Amino acid sequence: MGNEASTEKSDAQVNEMNSHLPPIKILVTGGSGLVGKAIEKVINEGEKRSNETWVFISSKDADLTNLEQTRQLFEEHKPTHVIHLAAMVGGLFHNLRHNLQFFTKNMAINQNVLQCCDEFDVHKCVSCLSTCIFPDKTTYPIDETMVHNGPPHDSNFGYSYAKRMIDVLNKGYEQEKGRKYTSVVPCNVFGPHDNYNLEDAHVIPALIHKVYLAQRDGTPLEVFGSGKPLRQFIYSTDLAKLFIWTVRHYNEVEPIILSVGEEDEVSIQDAVNAIVRAFDFKGEVIYDTSKADGQFKKTASNAKLRKYLSDYKFTPFEQAVAESVDWFIRNYETARK
Ligand code: NAP
Ligand code: GDP
Repeated sequence: MGNEASTEKSDAQVNEMNSHLPPIKILVTGGSGLVGKAIEKVINEGEKRSNETWVFISSKDADLTNLEQTRQLFEEHKPTHVIHLAAMVGGLFHNLRHNLQFFTKNMAINQNVLQCCDEFDVHKCVSCLSTCIFPDKTTYPIDETMVHNGPPHDSNFGYSYAKRMIDVLNKGYEQEKGRKYTSVVPCNVFGPHDNYNLEDAHVIPALIHKVYLAQRDGTPLEVFGSGKPLRQFIYSTDLAKLFIWTVRHYNEVEPIILSVGEEDEVSIQDAVNAIVRAFDFKGEVIYDTSKADGQFKKTASNAKLRKYLSDYKFTPFEQAVAESVDWFIRNYETARK
């Protein structure tokens, strides 16, 4: 990671040291998505080390709900390391409509990927949980010890239970096979290459798309819910850097929360205001309180991350929103929407 290299050794020195290490091949499932594209960008912009080969795959390379296709993919690439991002992913309203699919697809993908990691002797696999899978009724801040403590919020029980089972698989693979497979727990992510679909997206991409249309058409911006719920948001570039650090340096099986601090939590209304400012949108903003608010908050502690990386600097929220808005405007025709 840039931060780490700058305080210790230059990139050239790190590359020289790593050229004597055995080659490693990192397969990234979900490589065409929000987080996968951000990791690819960070790697291509100088983070790649000389002993590493990175392979980014999408559902076009293999349907990971299918065990045979997953096996063929691992047979073809023979990775030593896996970053497992692939999942059915969506915002509150997508989850509310499809809990069964979120559960069955994600269970199948996760079982197949971890089974193939074991079958093909992958040394390290880092999978992805989410802060929305924690118990709904809980104490705050949430930490890594609380993944299985109580029922998740009703709105996304399918996604949440499937994600929790990754931790069960990781612990099982350690207990019975001695594997060191682990997981990270990001808070809400946003950035370029997000899913900007009006119905299915997470809140920031959905609102960026809505403001774009409202400004273009001279119509009001319609925000769902009261705007009062609280969220921690991480820019996909920051998450990508932390993911790369995890693959290289994090050796626990227990999950680690990758989130901005508790002090950086904002309300949905704060997020709306940041997007409105980034567009310089002057139209009316309406809150439709007949729509769901979802979980009120899921404030997570990043104390464990801070023990490892005390001085990592997150991109300021306003700057990250402005960059995402700029990306969406420039890529409107081809963006996922
Ligand atoms: P995303 O943009 O929706 O991308 C999903 C990725 O998974 C795509 O590359 C997609 O491939 C792939 N995929 C889906 N179904 C597949 C299948 N059956 N076989 C193979 N590949 C499949 O999601 P994301 O936001 O980057 O999420 C990445 C990870 O972060 C997920 O595990 C998610 O649960 C986790 N996470 C996300 C957030 C967030 O706010 N976005 C927060 C916390 C955790 P195609 O492009 O070919 O469809
Ligand atoms: P969550 O963080 O898992 O609940 O998922 P989201 O990223 O979908 O955020 C949901 C929160 O944003 C809820 O409080 C919604 O009421 C609020 N929200 C406001 N407008 C929108 C919108 O257009 N789309 C989405 N997905 N959420 C919205």
